Amino acid sequence: MKQVEADVAIVAAGPAGLAAAVAAAEKGARVVVFEKSSVTGGCGNMAMGPFGVESRLQKKQIVGLTRDEAFKIHMDYNHWIPDARLVRAFIDKSGNTIDWLEDMGVEFIMAARHFPLSEPTWHILKTHGGAHGTGAIIFKALTERAEELGVQFFFNAPVKKILKENGRAVGIQAVDATGETVQANAKAVIVATGGFGGNAEMIKEITGYEWGKDLFSFKIPGIEGEGLKMAWEAGAARTHMILEMYCSVPRQGDFWNLDVVFRQPNLLVNLDGERFFNEEVFQNNTFAGNAISGQKGRCAFMIIDDAIKKQYVKGNFDQICFDIPIEDAAEFDDELERATEEGTRDFFVADTIEELAEKAGINVDNLVKTVAEYNRACASRDALFNKNYAYLKPIRKAKFYAGKLVPSGFGSLGGIKINHKAEVQDDAFNVIQGLYAAGTDANSIHADSYTFIMPGNTMGFAINSGRIAGESAADFVDSLA
Ligand SMILES: Cc1cc2nc3c(=O)[nH]c(=O)nc-3n(C[C@H](O)[C@H](O)[C@H](O)COP(=O)(O)OP(=O)(O)OC[C@H]3O[C@@H](n4cnc5c(N)ncnc54)[C@H](O)[C@@H]3O)c2cc1C
Repeated sequence: MKQVEADVAIVAAGPAGLAAAVAAAEKGARVVVFEKSSVTGGCGNMAMGPFGVESRLQKKQIVGLTRDEAFKIHMDYNHWIPDARLVRAFIDKSGNTIDWLEDMGVEFIMAARHFPLSEPTWHILKTHGGAHGTGAIIFKALTERAEELGVQFFFNAPVKKILKENGRAVGIQAVDATGETVQANAKAVIVATGGFGGNAEMIKEITGYEWGKDLFSFKIPGIEGEGLKMAWEAGAARTHMILEMYCSVPRQGDFWNLDVVFRQPNLLVNLDGERFFNEEVFQNNTFAGNAISGQKGRCAFMIIDDAIKKQYVKGNFDQICFDIPIEDAAEFDDELERATEEGTRDFFVADTIEELAEKAGINVDNLVKTVAEYNRACASRDALFNKNYAYLKPIRKAKFYAGKLVPSGFGSLGGIKINHKAEVQDDAFNVIQGLYAAGTDANSIHADSYTFIMPGNTMGFAINSGRIAGESAADFVDSLA
């Protein structure tokens, strides 16, 4: 068995683990990182940008909110269920973290809103050509900085176990790329394996959703809940765990045109053919996911007619979906044809409402009644949910279309209990000396839904809690000297 000596051993090099590595090394700690895949950055490589408040960029652009305001919004939205000290520590650090990344050469275009009713907290990355970039830019810069500071990386090296002695975390065991066990003896350990969003069994056991049946979230390979299991085995308390949920058409990435059209604020019905949601709220896609999750079969159908479709085909959307990488839905018909050929049973077209309901498996009589009621509302007002008049478009002109919407999402949230210094706590709220956790594994700052109104907050939490964990671990190492 190989042996490595370090001050801080870090489990994974995703956004949280990598930020932790740089932060600990900047404080002078000798750091070793074990990453299961062959690259750094984890899911963050696909992300568009992290959360920040009171960053230099926001001050320059005169946008954004204060840390106090962001804290209040977060705590009120989450009914003061999360640990307020942890939320405060994350928010307080977030602006400085954007500046920290800028000082490493990362460029952000702007602090943006995801949708009109959200806050401008999302720091969108800029490529060298000036276009929208992805989180990969951040993780390239952090990796270079880590290497410059002498951080040692093991890739293709999944960690299997946290080592403890006299109640303290003293290292980890991993298997390296050659299959040999490597033991890192360290004074502190940081766990950051990104939750269980890629593990269908854990999703079912913890959240009750069946991936591929009533959940169509990103299932990123390698994100298997290993850090959670290791930390729990080492005595960490469990927090509540949720999905970072939103809603979309099934297989969203294969059908962007259908996704963008069927996520506009038009008539939404459940299998009983009844409305259950103010479609205007669709812009907070997490709320839409919650409402759909409560319906029969955990699904819903958006109904449009040909006139509405034509508007979107030209790119005249009623609501902008910032996360959908297309500017019009010109390929709507092609995608519909492909979906039908593939036998998806998720998208339907018909000459009458009755035929549409029949094809989609929606209660026919009820849908006919609902469409008639909805069309009357379009001519007066929506007495049921008071939807904004601007979004009341009648369903009149054949052909008629129905698109299925289902709970979807980025992954999981929560699992390992930490305090505001990212120290792991046991069931009795005692700190497990030398053990830290960060990122998705420890993201318990959302109550039952993630705080979509302040965009960028999950990768933001990962990077900031990682930084906090790295700094705390380095301080702990110093305290032992
Ligand atoms: C498509 C997509 C878009 C997104 N967009 C945004 C966005 O714009 N803004 C935002 O805030 N968030 C976004 N997110 C969420 C964001 O990516 C996550 O919040 C963030 O990546 C979490 O960081 P993490 O370090 O906790 O975990 P991850 O990024 O999941 O990284 C975990 C790492 O752990 C490694 N690992 C797992 N098990 C082991 C083991 N046993 N040993 C060693 N290594 C292990 C994995 O290989 C991986 O590298 C997006 C997510 C997806 C999927």
